[in-house]
Amino acid sequence: MNVVSIMAHQDDEMRCLGTMLKCRARGDRLAFITLTDGSLGFVQEPTISRAKATEIRQREMDALASEMDATYLNLRELDEFLYDSPELRRRLIEAIRATRADVVFTHYHEDYNQDHVTTSLLVRHCLMQAALPVIPTASKPLPRVPAAFLVPPHGAFEFAPSHFVDITEYEAHKVRLLQRHQSQEEAMQQAVNAGFEQLCHRPDAYWGEQAGCAFAECFVPLRSRGTIKPYSVLP
Ligand SMILES: [Zn+2]
Repeated sequence: MNVVSIMAHQDDEMRCLGTMLKCRARGDRLAFITLTDGSLGFVQEPTISRAKATEIRQREMDALASEMDATYLNLRELDEFLYDSPELRRRLIEAIRATRADVVFTHYHEDYNQDHVTTSLLVRHCLMQAALPVIPTASKPLPRVPAAFLVPPHGAFEFAPSHFVDITEYEAHKVRLLQRHQSQEEAMQQAVNAGFEQLCHRPDAYWGEQAGCAFAECFVPLRSRGTIKPYSVLP
């Protein structure tokens, strides 16, 4: 299967990356799509130019993706100012088609960051359109709507996961991969006094405890037309 993370920012894959590693181990192909350029993620250097910041975020995400033999498509909308638009919908539909997605992970529809919320709503709409012929793009429509799962939001939101994946074997590798986002390791140390290791270990251990393993990721299925499957999807 083709497994695709569609997130607002480079590093938002942190809530599904262990599951994606497990997917890769069973032979799936992986892809990442980000909607923004991540250029406003530099808490540690707020005056950095958009061009330089974008280049750094691209390079970090490229490194992570290539280590996972994954494709990376960056739609490069302006970070923190993501707006739904006809043009962006077409670009996202094309990106989804280009990955030939069977399974998609994206943001929950309530989250602390508006780019995350906008991405979640755009993905819900564009997954359906990616499988229909009425909005033509360079790639042909998908044969069916992909299965889709929503990752836990950051912050005190109600989120009742129904699907858990044991990622105990992949937790250490997941953290090492995320540390490819060196600029974000620095930004988060400054902003929230924690790096990727803590930002993964704490919740992954909490969800693992709920599922009876050391580390887990958890999801809510995207309840939309065609996104719930009558067969098993997660590893
Ligand atoms: Zn984000």
